[in-house]
Amino acid sequence: MRRNLTAVALVLLMISLTLSGCGEKPAETPPPPEEITAPAEPLPPEEPEPEPYTIIDPTVMPEGGVRDGVTYVPSEGRVEHLFFHPVVAYPELAFDGDRMEEGIDDYMVTVGEFNKILNSLYERDYILVDIGDVWREDISEAGEPVMVRNTLYLPEGKKPLIFSYDDTNYYPYMLENGFTYKLILGEDGKIWSYGLDPAGNEVISRDLDAITILDKFVEEHPDFSPFGAKACLSLTGYEGILGYRTQTDSEDWTPEREASRQREIEAVKPIVAELKRTGWTFGSHTWGHIRLGSNGMEKIRSDTEKWLNEVGSLVGPTTILFYPHGERPDGGDWKQTGEVFRYFQEKGFRVFCSVGTESFSFIKKDICAVICDRLHPDGTTLRSKYADKRYGQFYDAREIIDLESRPEREVGWQ
Ligand SMILES: [Zn+2]
Repeated sequence: MRRNLTAVALVLLMISLTLSGCGEKPAETPPPPEEITAPAEPLPPEEPEPEPYTIIDPTVMPEGGVRDGVTYVPSEGRVEHLFFHPVVAYPELAFDGDRMEEGIDDYMVTVGEFNKILNSLYERDYILVDIGDVWREDISEAGEPVMVRNTLYLPEGKKPLIFSYDDTNYYPYMLENGFTYKLILGEDGKIWSYGLDPAGNEVISRDLDAITILDKFVEEHPDFSPFGAKACLSLTGYEGILGYRTQTDSEDWTPEREASRQREIEAVKPIVAELKRTGWTFGSHTWGHIRLGSNGMEKIRSDTEKWLNEVGSLVGPTTILFYPHGERPDGGDWKQTGEVFRYFQEKGFRVFCSVGTESFSFIKKDICAVICDRLHPDGTTLRSKYADKRYGQFYDAREIIDLESRPEREVGWQ
């Protein structure tokens, strides 16, 4: 009986094959032999398998209070916040007596100084946390949206620290003044910097840029970032982002320029994705690095729309705003909430960062937002007579500052 059924099935199958034309001779003539023997197209190089990277939520206590043999304890104390500009890769180009020298001396640190700062922070038990994990939006008892401070669960004995890097756009003026040119993806799938050394040779490195240096430091000292956090990158838009010229320009726009812009957009996408995968986050520094204390509402609105269109579209939504020049909107944001502040809050921003003399933060009562100040390791504070008072908990400025490379200017300490 079983055999009969199989036979019937076979006949049915043959009929269906004939009907569907499967048994017919192919209509197309086979390609000439030379095409068959032509060498096959080389396969594209295989994409490297990215090393796994773990990001952990610091607001959740690990089960039993222990993770990887480390005891975690709740923390509600101050979270320190340091911000950096891009670091000087080649001091001989930065400090060459041109008109940019003084500004770079004031607001930047060198690669050597940055490495020393990282080591000092590590030795003093600081650990990185992401700014986005420190506060969260909640609903108050009155039913209003409000920001609240999260309890962070930290390895016992460690102190939480936020890093932010401003203006990681690789502005053209930086390229000729001793900074790296752009971020690229290496053959190993990791982020590298590209640039030219003082002799004009191309240099691809992980030792010349604050982003790759921190990546490497965390690879070598995973306990400096137990949750996988790196820094929040504060981006403008007027010269593109991360070294890619993704911006529009109101003048002389041509189809060629638009095509070039689209190529840059495609090129930066995998860089953004890899940064996000490895603990970096993004915030707005406004599109045009505009002063929020002195520009009118119309300018601020159009600038913000441009940032959202040209930068937000590439890095994803963010709730973090870094005031350009540290300038607070509406004549102050701590004691009052003005039109500009309200506008940014409506646009989704919740954490508003300025610059100050301590890592001050304040949850506003009248609107769902937090304001916070950041400290700024740079030439001004390394030379300052307040270096010990304000930065002594992080490092000894005397051991950090590279007076050999920097221009001869006064220091305020003994
Ligand atoms: Zn800036």
